[in-house]
Amino acid sequence: MSAKPSCDEFDPNNLRVEQALEQIQHSITPIAETERLPLMQAHNHVMAEDVHSPLNVPPYKNSAMDGYALRGADLGDGDTSLDLIGTAFAGNPFDGEVQAGQCVRIMTGAKLPAGTDTVIMQEHATADGERITFGNGHTSGQNVRHAGEDIAVEDVVLQKGQRLHAAEIGLLASLGVPEVTVARKLRVAFFSTGDELRPVGEALEEGQIYDSNRYTLYGMLRELDVEILDLGVIRDVPEAIEAAFEQAADQADAVITSGGVSVGEADYVKTTLDKLGKVSFWKIAMKPGKPLAFGRVKDAWFFGLPGNPVSVMATFYQFALPALRRLMGEEAEAPLTFKVPCREPLKKRAGRTDFQRGILTLDEQGNPGVTAAGMQASHILSGMSRANCFIILPLEADNIDAGTLVEVQPFRGLM
Ligand code: AMP
Ligand code: MG
Repeated sequence: MSAKPSCDEFDPNNLRVEQALEQIQHSITPIAETERLPLMQAHNHVMAEDVHSPLNVPPYKNSAMDGYALRGADLGDGDTSLDLIGTAFAGNPFDGEVQAGQCVRIMTGAKLPAGTDTVIMQEHATADGERITFGNGHTSGQNVRHAGEDIAVEDVVLQKGQRLHAAEIGLLASLGVPEVTVARKLRVAFFSTGDELRPVGEALEEGQIYDSNRYTLYGMLRELDVEILDLGVIRDVPEAIEAAFEQAADQADAVITSGGVSVGEADYVKTTLDKLGKVSFWKIAMKPGKPLAFGRVKDAWFFGLPGNPVSVMATFYQFALPALRRLMGEEAEAPLTFKVPCREPLKKRAGRTDFQRGILTLDEQGNPGVTAAGMQASHILSGMSRANCFIILPLEADNIDAGTLVEVQPFRGLM
């Protein structure tokens, strides 16, 4: 084997990111259990049924303007004068029927009085007592919102597999739907492995570091809104690792670990997993985050993420997150990516897909562009915190010149 590090970049045993994701998604079948929840509690759950609208929205024909409701057939070629016979307010409709030669004063959102089909803006009318005159240029049927023009009775408003964000529970409320059937929440257990790791709050001794991966994982799982089971830091001791896996798999739908899956270190984790489940140990052609284990531990799904802090985040976002979404029955679109020029050269070696940490900004003219968020090594967690996107550089690519269009995947939304 050559001493040149680039040799390893083209390891034919490496699995491409897309292949690994495809294999993971193909293996997973969504959980079947559902629950019926009131709207507010259903927020962030995934729909387990289609919802058909019980109503028309708008529920009745109403006015789009403040003005006068009349019969379109009354409009002549020149001026038209009509008798005012009443008023229709939103929430307080006009009761009678409007006859030829009559009109009703109407407010935005008010139900169109029987007999009328047209609304003329108040600015286009002149009143002389109870006699209202309209100029020409109006069309029959104008300024009317029709029943069901937004949503008709029985229309599918939400589909199985959709996640209920703020807009979705608001939409259901607007239809008077009080509760929905959703997938039950996922339970996800995680722990860290490594003798060098100390929990936050304890003093560090020589050669030790704080366990940050559990916090990162906690944050990402909270954002996904699953039930979390934190099993702490587990020593590199076979019995401890086995006990942790047993407990995690018995209590959760999915188990996520970090560390202990790279070659040479995998021993305890690997022997335990061989005993308790069926797990593949992969080398993914990606940077950061080469080692990845995936499979089943007892009845739970297992994701063995690499130990380096940035690798944990990159592999979680690219593999564990879509897999957990699928497990909860979510039919999510692939995360948004788009191309922008990079404002500086980027270092890259062909052979792996890079997920570099980037800062996406607008320049003074309002044009988007991306810069690297500092050092790109897989232990530089501060770069991940400065970044607002991944810069995804294709496997075949070498160094990137400034000005090249590169693909970015933002990871910060409005909240
Ligand atoms: P490993 O895959 O166990 O060899 O870990 C790779 C690197 O990640 C090592 O430098 C570990 O010290 C580090 N590491 C592993 N787990 C954690 C953790 N939970 N928090 C911070 N660093 C970690
Ligand atoms: Mg380790």
